[in-house]
Order: sequence, then structure tokens, then C-alpha cells
Amino acid sequence: MRLLIASSNKGKLAEIMALLQDIPLDAVLPADIGIELDVEEDGTTYAENSLKKALAYCQVSGLVTLADDSGLEVDALGGQPGIYSARFSGKPGATDAERRRFLLEKLKNFPQPWLAAFRSTVVIATPDGRTFTLDGECRGEIIPEERGTNGFGYDPIFQVEGLTRTMAELSMEEKNRLSHRARAILAARPVLMQLTDEL
Ligand code: IMP
Repeated sequence: MRLLIASSNKGKLAEIMALLQDIPLDAVLPADIGIELDVEEDGTTYAENSLKKALAYCQVSGLVTLADDSGLEVDALGGQPGIYSARFSGKPGATDAERRRFLLEKLKNFPQPWLAAFRSTVVIATPDGRTFTLDGECRGEIIPEERGTNGFGYDPIFQVEGLTRTMAELSMEEKNRLSHRARAILAARPVLMQLTDEL
């Protein structure tokens, strides 16, 4: 079965590919099959955004499609940045490092610990019109100093609950055992195995 992974975020893609590598499917990226879509993430939930991406790419490609929408929710900020995590900086074209600084600036007047959670919703859409939605969560806390160089996004300032290390101090194998995205993809694996058997 060919599976289109509807994402261009290199950090996410590497994680998703690693989590699916033992399933007999041919994972392709939009660029591999000459597709470039600009799907506006204007939903109010991760699920709405994932569904919109999965359906758009599935329709254009005719392939079973997996999309993920994810974000960081900080308790002291009432769940911000949430679905706006990729755009949280106050200026267009900001880097991950600028977004981390922006978040720390917002948090500096709140007492620690700065409890937070990463959340991910994965949607799988099939050309015959079925959709499957799976969620994953990883709790932790935001720390004021960056640590680690692995991963992407907010990983260097997110210390995982129960560990003394940030997400950016974990190897990809370790992150893929406990991250929000890993949990959503693990829940999606039986769906993908079933679809692989069907096709
Ligand atoms: P999306 O591409 O709209 O799902 O953007 C999700 C954004 O949330 C990313 O650009 C990151 O800023 C943040 N994010 C999601 N997952 C992770 C993660 O595993 N580590 C660090 N940041 C993440």
C-alpha cells in the first residue's frame, strides 16, 4: 500500500517514518509524487486541521493519506500556543529559536513550574471516504534554559514528565517511545495494518 504522509515538517516526518518502518507500506511525501498543496490550517482544533489536510491530499493524490496536527499547550497561558504553535512569535517567518524565546518571554512573570503538554491528532483518510482520528499527549514542563540539540520546535525547553531531560536531549528512538506524536501514531498502527491487508 502506498501511504502519503501529508507534511513538509522534516522533524515530524523523520519521527513518523521511523514509527511506521516495520509496516509493509510504501510511504511517500507530497514532493515525491509532485504534489504541492497549500492547505490553510484555519480549524479550531488539531482534529479539524488534520482532517482538512488529510482529505485535501487524499483527494488530489488518490492515496491513503496520513496527516498530523500538533502543538504545545502551556497551562499558565490557558493552553496557548496550542493550534497556533507553529505561528507563535508575533512575526511571520520566525525561526523555532525565536518562537522558544517568545514563549519564555511570555512566561517569565509566572511562577514555575510551567506545566505544559504536547498534543497531536493524526487523521488517516482513504480514497473510499473513510477517516480515522487518533490522539496522543505527552505532559511535561517548560524550562527557562534550553537543553539539548535533537528534535525540533519547542523540544529544547520541554522537560518530559518523570524525566530529568528535555525532548531535545532524547534520541529519536527515546522520543518515539513517549512523545504525543508517537502515541497518536502507535494508535494509528492497527488502522494502517488493516488497510495494508485490504489493499
Ligand atoms: P503543525 O505543523 O501545524 O502541526 O505545527 C506544530 C508546531 O507545534 C510545530 O511547528 C512546533 O512548533 C510544535 N510542535 C509540535 N510537535 C512538536 C514536537 O514534537 N516537538 C517540538 N515542537 C513541536
